[in-house]
Amino acid sequence: MPRQATPALAHSARAFDDARISDSQTCRLTPQAGEGAKPIAILGGTFDPVHLGHLRVAWEAAEALDAQVRLMPANTPPHRPAPIADAQQRVRMLEAALAGQDWLVLDTRELRRDGPSYTVDTLCELRAESSASQPLILLLGTDAFTGLATWHQWRSLFDLAHIVVLTRPGHAAPLPAELASEIAARQASTAKELRQSAAGKVLNLPVTPLEISASAVRALLAAGREPRWLLPDALLANEKLLAPYRG
Ligand code: ATP
Repeated sequence: MPRQATPALAHSARAFDDARISDSQTCRLTPQAGEGAKPIAILGGTFDPVHLGHLRVAWEAAEALDAQVRLMPANTPPHRPAPIADAQQRVRMLEAALAGQDWLVLDTRELRRDGPSYTVDTLCELRAESSASQPLILLLGTDAFTGLATWHQWRSLFDLAHIVVLTRPGHAAPLPAELASEIAARQASTAKELRQSAAGKVLNLPVTPLEISASAVRALLAAGREPRWLLPDALLANEKLLAPYRG
Protein backbone atom coordinates (compact mmCIF):
# COMPACT_ATOMS: atom_id res chain seq x y z
CA MET A 1 0.00 0.00 0.00
CA PRO A 2 1.52 3.35 -0.99
CA ARG A 3 2.43 5.66 1.82
CA GLN A 4 3.31 8.79 -0.08
CA ALA A 5 3.51 12.21 1.48
CA THR A 6 0.09 13.76 1.93
CA PRO A 7 -0.38 16.60 -0.55
CA ALA A 8 -0.40 20.11 0.91
CA LEU A 9 -3.86 21.43 1.70
CA ALA A 10 -5.36 24.88 1.47
CA HIS A 11 -7.66 25.72 4.39
CA SER A 12 -9.92 28.44 5.50
CA ALA A 13 -9.31 28.92 9.21
CA ARG A 14 -13.00 29.43 9.91
CA ALA A 15 -13.89 25.99 11.24
CA PHE A 16 -10.74 25.35 13.22
CA ASP A 17 -9.08 26.75 16.27
CA ASP A 18 -5.87 25.88 14.53
CA ALA A 19 -6.32 25.30 10.83
CA ARG A 20 -2.75 24.25 10.31
CA ILE A 21 -1.13 21.25 8.88
CA SER A 22 0.59 19.74 11.89
CA ASP A 23 3.75 17.69 11.74
CA SER A 24 1.55 14.70 11.11
CA GLN A 25 -0.13 16.80 8.41
CA THR A 26 -3.57 16.44 9.95
CA CYS A 27 -5.98 19.31 10.41
CA ARG A 28 -7.47 19.74 13.88
CA LEU A 29 -11.15 20.21 14.52
CA THR A 30 -12.42 22.01 17.58
CA PRO A 31 -15.18 19.70 18.77
CA GLN A 32 -18.47 21.53 19.15
CA ALA A 33 -21.97 20.36 19.82
CA GLY A 34 -24.03 20.01 16.67
CA GLU A 35 -26.86 22.48 16.05
CA GLY A 36 -29.17 20.17 14.17
CA ALA A 37 -27.79 21.20 10.77
CA LYS A 38 -28.47 18.80 7.90
CA PRO A 39 -25.46 16.48 7.77
CA ILE A 40 -23.24 16.19 4.71
CA ALA A 41 -22.38 12.56 3.98
CA ILE A 42 -19.81 11.29 1.51
CA LEU A 43 -19.56 7.93 -0.19
CA GLY A 44 -16.11 7.67 -1.69
CA GLY A 45 -14.99 4.95 -4.04
CA THR A 46 -13.54 4.19 -7.39
CA PHE A 47 -16.98 3.81 -9.01
CA ASP A 48 -15.37 1.69 -11.73
CA PRO A 49 -18.22 1.59 -12.73
CA VAL A 50 -20.93 3.02 -10.46
CA HIS A 51 -23.57 0.30 -9.91
CA LEU A 52 -27.00 -0.08 -8.31
CA GLY A 53 -25.41 -1.26 -5.03
CA HIS A 54 -23.70 2.12 -4.62
CA LEU A 55 -26.77 4.08 -5.65
CA ARG A 56 -29.35 2.25 -3.57
CA VAL A 57 -27.34 2.25 -0.33
CA ALA A 58 -26.45 5.93 -0.83
CA TRP A 59 -30.13 6.69 -1.35
CA GLU A 60 -31.15 4.78 1.77
CA ALA A 61 -28.45 6.57 3.77
CA ALA A 62 -29.76 9.95 2.54
CA GLU A 63 -33.24 8.98 3.73
CA ALA A 64 -32.23 7.43 7.05
CA LEU A 65 -29.77 10.18 8.02
CA ASP A 66 -31.68 13.05 6.39
CA ALA A 67 -28.34 14.01 4.89
CA GLN A 68 -27.08 15.36 1.61
CA VAL A 69 -25.11 12.45 0.16
CA ARG A 70 -22.18 13.17 -2.14
CA LEU A 71 -20.68 10.47 -4.31
CA MET A 72 -16.97 11.19 -4.46
CA PRO A 73 -14.88 9.35 -7.06
CA ALA A 74 -11.26 8.78 -6.00
CA ASN A 75 -8.36 9.85 -8.16
CA THR A 76 -5.56 7.44 -7.27
CA PRO A 77 -6.91 5.12 -4.60
CA PRO A 78 -4.15 4.42 -2.08
CA HIS A 79 -5.49 0.98 -1.16
CA ARG A 80 -5.91 -0.70 -4.52
CA PRO A 81 -4.85 -0.93 -8.19
CA ALA A 82 -5.68 1.95 -10.53
CA PRO A 83 -9.23 1.94 -11.96
CA ILE A 84 -9.82 0.60 -15.50
CA ALA A 85 -11.83 3.66 -16.56
CA ASP A 86 -10.06 6.99 -16.31
CA ALA A 87 -11.35 9.82 -14.14
CA GLN A 88 -13.30 11.50 -16.92
CA GLN A 89 -14.97 8.25 -17.96
CA ARG A 90 -15.99 7.51 -14.37
CA VAL A 91 -17.40 11.02 -13.97
CA ARG A 92 -19.46 10.60 -17.16
CA MET A 93 -20.90 7.35 -15.83
CA LEU A 94 -21.74 8.98 -12.48
CA GLU A 95 -23.37 11.94 -14.21
CA ALA A 96 -25.50 9.62 -16.31
CA ALA A 97 -26.43 7.52 -13.27
CA LEU A 98 -27.41 10.52 -11.14
CA ALA A 99 -29.46 12.34 -13.78
CA GLY A 100 -33.07 13.05 -12.91
CA GLN A 101 -32.79 13.28 -9.12
CA ASP A 102 -31.13 15.66 -6.71
CA TRP A 103 -30.77 13.74 -3.45
CA LEU A 104 -27.47 12.24 -4.44
CA VAL A 105 -24.88 14.63 -5.82
CA LEU A 106 -21.50 14.25 -7.46
CA ASP A 107 -18.44 15.81 -5.84
CA THR A 108 -15.29 15.61 -7.97
CA ARG A 109 -12.85 17.35 -5.60
CA GLU A 110 -10.59 14.32 -5.24
CA LEU A 111 -10.11 14.20 -9.00
CA ARG A 112 -8.77 17.76 -8.94
CA ARG A 113 -6.04 16.88 -6.44
CA ASP A 114 -2.79 15.31 -7.55
CA GLY A 115 -1.58 12.11 -5.97
CA PRO A 116 -3.42 9.60 -3.82
CA SER A 117 -6.94 10.29 -2.63
CA TYR A 118 -6.54 10.29 1.13
CA THR A 119 -9.90 10.56 2.85
CA VAL A 120 -8.37 12.50 5.73
CA ASP A 121 -7.44 15.30 3.27
CA THR A 122 -10.92 15.33 1.78
CA LEU A 123 -12.54 15.60 5.19
CA CYS A 124 -10.13 18.40 6.12
CA GLU A 125 -11.27 20.31 3.05
CA LEU A 126 -14.95 19.75 3.81
CA ARG A 127 -14.40 20.73 7.44
CA ALA A 128 -12.78 23.99 6.34
CA GLU A 129 -15.82 24.74 4.18
CA SER A 130 -18.34 24.01 6.94
CA SER A 131 -19.19 25.43 10.32
CA ALA A 132 -17.51 23.66 13.25
CA SER A 133 -20.87 22.24 14.30
CA GLN A 134 -21.83 20.87 10.88
CA PRO A 135 -22.07 17.07 11.12
CA LEU A 136 -19.97 15.40 8.45
CA ILE A 137 -20.48 11.70 7.80
CA LEU A 138 -18.22 9.23 6.08
CA LEU A 139 -20.27 6.39 4.60
CA LEU A 140 -18.45 3.08 4.31
CA GLY A 141 -19.61 -0.36 3.26
CA THR A 142 -18.76 -3.14 5.72
CA ASP A 143 -15.75 -4.21 3.64
CA ALA A 144 -14.24 -0.74 3.56
CA PHE A 145 -14.87 -0.21 7.27
CA THR A 146 -13.17 -3.48 8.21
CA GLY A 147 -10.00 -2.22 6.54
CA LEU A 148 -10.13 1.25 8.07
CA ALA A 149 -7.12 0.77 10.37
CA THR A 150 -4.88 0.50 7.30
CA TRP A 151 -5.92 3.94 6.02
CA HIS A 152 -3.68 6.99 6.13
CA GLN A 153 -4.07 8.76 9.51
CA TRP A 154 -7.15 6.68 10.19
CA ARG A 155 -7.64 7.73 13.80
CA SER A 156 -7.86 11.39 12.68
CA LEU A 157 -10.96 10.53 10.64
CA PHE A 158 -12.95 10.41 13.89
CA ASP A 159 -11.93 14.00 14.69
CA LEU A 160 -13.35 15.14 11.39
CA ALA A 161 -16.49 13.10 10.75
CA HIS A 162 -18.92 10.50 12.01
CA ILE A 163 -18.69 7.12 10.33
CA VAL A 164 -21.79 5.27 9.17
CA VAL A 165 -21.26 1.63 8.24
CA LEU A 166 -23.58 0.31 5.52
CA THR A 167 -24.23 -3.41 5.59
CA ARG A 168 -22.81 -5.21 2.58
CA PRO A 169 -23.59 -8.89 2.06
CA GLY A 170 -20.68 -11.29 1.81
CA HIS A 171 -18.31 -9.07 3.76
CA ALA A 172 -18.91 -10.02 7.38
CA ALA A 173 -15.51 -10.28 9.06
CA PRO A 174 -14.39 -9.56 12.60
CA LEU A 175 -12.96 -6.09 13.11
CA PRO A 176 -9.22 -5.85 13.80
CA ALA A 177 -8.60 -5.34 17.53
CA GLU A 178 -7.28 -1.77 17.21
CA LEU A 179 -10.35 -0.69 15.24
CA ALA A 180 -12.75 -2.45 17.63
CA SER A 181 -11.09 -0.72 20.57
CA GLU A 182 -11.11 2.71 18.87
CA ILE A 183 -14.85 2.57 18.18
CA ALA A 184 -15.95 0.95 21.45
CA ALA A 185 -16.86 4.25 23.08
CA ARG A 186 -18.07 5.86 19.88
CA GLN A 187 -21.14 3.75 19.07
CA ALA A 188 -24.36 5.61 18.25
CA SER A 189 -27.65 3.79 18.07
CA THR A 190 -29.77 6.34 16.20
CA ALA A 191 -29.27 8.75 13.33
CA LYS A 192 -30.48 11.54 15.63
CA GLU A 193 -27.35 11.16 17.77
CA LEU A 194 -25.22 12.11 14.77
CA ARG A 195 -26.78 15.59 14.80
CA GLN A 196 -25.74 16.26 18.35
CA SER A 197 -22.06 16.50 17.51
CA ALA A 198 -20.02 17.31 14.44
CA ALA A 199 -17.87 14.19 14.38
CA GLY A 200 -16.63 11.17 16.29
CA LYS A 201 -19.55 8.68 16.39
CA VAL A 202 -19.98 5.36 14.61
CA LEU A 203 -23.41 4.13 13.51
CA ASN A 204 -24.22 0.79 11.89
CA LEU A 205 -26.96 1.39 9.34
CA PRO A 206 -28.75 -1.67 7.97
CA VAL A 207 -29.54 -1.11 4.29
CA THR A 208 -31.03 -3.36 1.64
CA PRO A 209 -28.43 -6.09 1.11
CA LEU A 210 -27.39 -5.95 -2.54
CA GLU A 211 -24.63 -8.29 -3.50
CA ILE A 212 -23.41 -6.19 -6.42
CA SER A 213 -19.79 -5.22 -6.95
CA ALA A 214 -17.97 -3.25 -9.61
CA SER A 215 -15.51 -6.11 -10.04
CA ALA A 216 -18.32 -8.55 -10.87
CA VAL A 217 -19.78 -6.03 -13.33
CA ARG A 218 -16.37 -5.57 -14.97
CA ALA A 219 -15.98 -9.35 -15.27
CA LEU A 220 -19.38 -9.67 -16.97
CA LEU A 221 -18.55 -6.91 -19.44
CA ALA A 222 -15.11 -8.35 -20.19
CA ALA A 223 -16.80 -11.69 -20.94
CA GLY A 224 -19.16 -9.99 -23.38
CA ARG A 225 -22.19 -10.38 -21.11
CA GLU A 226 -24.78 -7.74 -20.27
CA PRO A 227 -24.93 -6.60 -16.61
CA ARG A 228 -28.56 -5.49 -16.93
CA TRP A 229 -30.32 -4.74 -13.63
CA LEU A 230 -26.96 -4.46 -11.89
CA LEU A 231 -26.25 -1.06 -13.40
CA PRO A 232 -28.41 2.02 -13.91
CA ASP A 233 -30.15 1.87 -17.29
CA ALA A 234 -28.45 5.11 -18.31
CA LEU A 235 -25.08 3.33 -18.43
CA LEU A 236 -26.45 0.59 -20.67
CA ALA A 237 -28.21 3.10 -22.89
CA ASN A 238 -24.97 4.69 -24.06
CA GLU A 239 -22.45 2.25 -25.52
CA LYS A 240 -19.54 4.63 -25.07
CA LEU A 241 -19.92 4.73 -21.30
CA LEU A 242 -19.11 1.05 -20.74
CA ALA A 243 -16.59 0.74 -23.59
CA PRO A 244 -13.55 0.75 -21.24
CA TYR A 245 -14.66 -2.58 -19.77
CA ARG A 246 -15.70 -4.51 -22.85
CA GLY A 247 -13.32 -7.31 -23.84
P1 ATP B 1 -14.75 -3.24 -6.61
O1 ATP B 1 -15.57 -4.47 -6.83
O2 ATP B 1 -14.01 -2.75 -7.83
O3 ATP B 1 -13.85 -3.38 -5.41
P2 ATP B 1 -16.95 -1.89 -5.29
O4 ATP B 1 -18.19 -2.45 -5.89
O5 ATP B 1 -16.53 -2.39 -3.92
O6 ATP B 1 -15.74 -2.02 -6.30
P3 ATP B 1 -16.19 0.81 -4.66
O7 ATP B 1 -16.28 1.97 -5.59
O8 ATP B 1 -14.86 0.30 -4.30
O9 ATP B 1 -17.14 -0.34 -5.27
O10 ATP B 1 -17.02 1.10 -3.32
C1 ATP B 1 -17.18 2.39 -2.79
C2 ATP B 1 -17.91 2.29 -1.46
O11 ATP B 1 -19.23 1.75 -1.66
C3 ATP B 1 -17.23 1.39 -0.42
O12 ATP B 1 -17.42 1.97 0.87
C4 ATP B 1 -18.01 0.09 -0.53
O13 ATP B 1 -17.99 -0.66 0.66
C5 ATP B 1 -19.42 0.62 -0.83
N1 ATP B 1 -20.22 -0.33 -1.59
C6 ATP B 1 -19.99 -0.74 -2.84
N2 ATP B 1 -20.92 -1.63 -3.23
C7 ATP B 1 -21.77 -1.80 -2.18
C8 ATP B 1 -22.92 -2.62 -1.94
N3 ATP B 1 -23.39 -3.44 -2.88
N4 ATP B 1 -23.53 -2.53 -0.73
C9 ATP B 1 -23.04 -1.70 0.23
N5 ATP B 1 -21.95 -0.90 0.07
C10 ATP B 1 -21.31 -0.96 -1.12
